[in-house]
Amino acid sequence: MEIKKGIAVSPGISIAKSLIIDSEDYRIPRRSIHPSQRVAEVQRIRNAFKDAIGELTRLEAAQDPSEGGKIKDIFAVHLRFLHDRSMRKKMTDLVHSELVTAAYAASSVLREIAQHLSKSQDAYISERAADIRDIERRLLKQLLGKRREAVEHLTEEVVIVARELSPTETAGFDRQFVKGIASDAGGRTSHAAIVARSLAIPAVVALEDLTAYVNGGDTIIVDGNRGIVIVNPDGETLRQYEQYSKEFVELEHRLDAMRQEPAITRDGTKITLLGNIEFPDEADVVLQKGGEGIGLYRTEFLYLNTETEPTEQDHYNAYAQTVRGLAGKPIVIRTVDLGADKHTQSKRFVREPNPFLGLRSIRFCLQNLTMFKTQLRAILRVSVLGNVRIMFPLITNLHELMQAKMILRDVMEDLDEESVPYNRDLPVGIMIETPSAALTAYSLAMDCDFFSIGTNDLTQYTLAVDRGNELVSMLYSSADPAVLRLIRTVTQDAHKAQIPLSICGEMASEPECVMLLLGMGVRTLSLSSPMIPEIKQIVRSVRLQDCNKVARKVLSMNSERQISAYLRNAATKILPEAF
Ligand code: PEP
Ligand code: MG
Repeated sequence: MEIKKGIAVSPGISIAKSLIIDSEDYRIPRRSIHPSQRVAEVQRIRNAFKDAIGELTRLEAAQDPSEGGKIKDIFAVHLRFLHDRSMRKKMTDLVHSELVTAAYAASSVLREIAQHLSKSQDAYISERAADIRDIERRLLKQLLGKRREAVEHLTEEVVIVARELSPTETAGFDRQFVKGIASDAGGRTSHAAIVARSLAIPAVVALEDLTAYVNGGDTIIVDGNRGIVIVNPDGETLRQYEQYSKEFVELEHRLDAMRQEPAITRDGTKITLLGNIEFPDEADVVLQKGGEGIGLYRTEFLYLNTETEPTEQDHYNAYAQTVRGLAGKPIVIRTVDLGADKHTQSKRFVREPNPFLGLRSIRFCLQNLTMFKTQLRAILRVSVLGNVRIMFPLITNLHELMQAKMILRDVMEDLDEESVPYNRDLPVGIMIETPSAALTAYSLAMDCDFFSIGTNDLTQYTLAVDRGNELVSMLYSSADPAVLRLIRTVTQDAHKAQIPLSICGEMASEPECVMLLLGMGVRTLSLSSPMIPEIKQIVRSVRLQDCNKVARKVLSMNSERQISAYLRNAATKILPEAF
């Protein structure tokens, strides 16, 4: 039995056999083959090259020439490498001489070439190392394709074990069979963790070296409440966890039973609880869990699920389905937040040295106007179907907001010319996710209709801690005094400017933070649907005057540890069973 401690990111207990996924960036373990398998492995290398060449040729042909031909050039370089016979020969020689798998041979030959190139003094040559790593990923995708298919065609319940999962991979999991997730990398607000939570799959991340301890088919317990993963539990542990899992399900049912009760504090203040969604069919779940609308629709998932970029009609269909399902309840559609760890089809292979500080989110949209306008048209078209609002992510300064609004007006004019109906008074809001936006909130508030604080990014950018990097996850906390002071500034400025404000980062679903946020003046929280009942119960158990006291006390503290301990203590007194 092996017990590993990580970060709990999605609540619940799961017990099932492990299925290990080799992540694309993971070093392929050296596996030996029987001499009789040599011919088949060499053939697999040939097939992988053939398929990779076919895939790249199609992608190259599909490139939009208006992009300046840069992407086309990248694909052409990759194709030249793939046509180089000496590279393929090195791999097949390795299979014959060392009796290793095709995947291992491909990976080790390409890593050696990449290492060699990266040492070059010539910048052009050293940059080619990144191309070689991309080719490695592409070939491995072909060579390991069968294993990935196994994830897509599951027939029994599993716990997915991986070094790292992307949000796209996680979104593709079959909820019926994927019962738990455990990964070496990740953080509470990494996008894969957010997806796991919205799919209600218990998950623990940042387990550092879990993959070294697990073999495919091992029994795994994922304790998504305490952040623990147990490999091959003994009989007594297994029995305890089966009991614990039953009790947890009962607690969830009890909470669900009060889902239609209003979210009102004991002293009568109404709090609005909305849901965060990534896919249209989740809107129903938000309503079932007692949410009153959608406070954040992360539309970039439309790009992450397919091989081709969505058309205006694809956007329209997804939004129309969601808006109709809400029957007049509010929905905030956020324009795409691509870049960093989420990429469009055509930009998937463009590497940036610091992607979270790079061409991400609204910046990316403002440089890809065709794509941006396509989405804006669809959002405007659905605005007549319900209570639709639009929100721009990662605004860092007023100029960006003005640019985004100007483009929105351009699109409105195009629709006017075509006599396409839309809501001219559609509320336009922004996310406050950077210290610069928080510190200039009042002037931003003069030019928009509402704020939503994205505490996931606000925490990352204020504390200079990558939200998905397990090596620094102990430094990542939205309860840090610096983050809290920025939240308070934004809340006060929104109040002064008389515009509505909500919190839509993961902080809104942390039971310990509810009293503090209410005490700081927040009245709308948007969170992943499985957490709505629990947060509602906390809202219904507190008095606003106590929340105000908690906020005053916390804002006078200077240490994150002191604040977290104080918040936990205050929340435990209110609702012991939630902790
Ligand atoms: C945030 O940053 O808090 C947020 C809600 O946006 P996302 O998690 O999609 O980056
Ligand atoms: Mg964000």
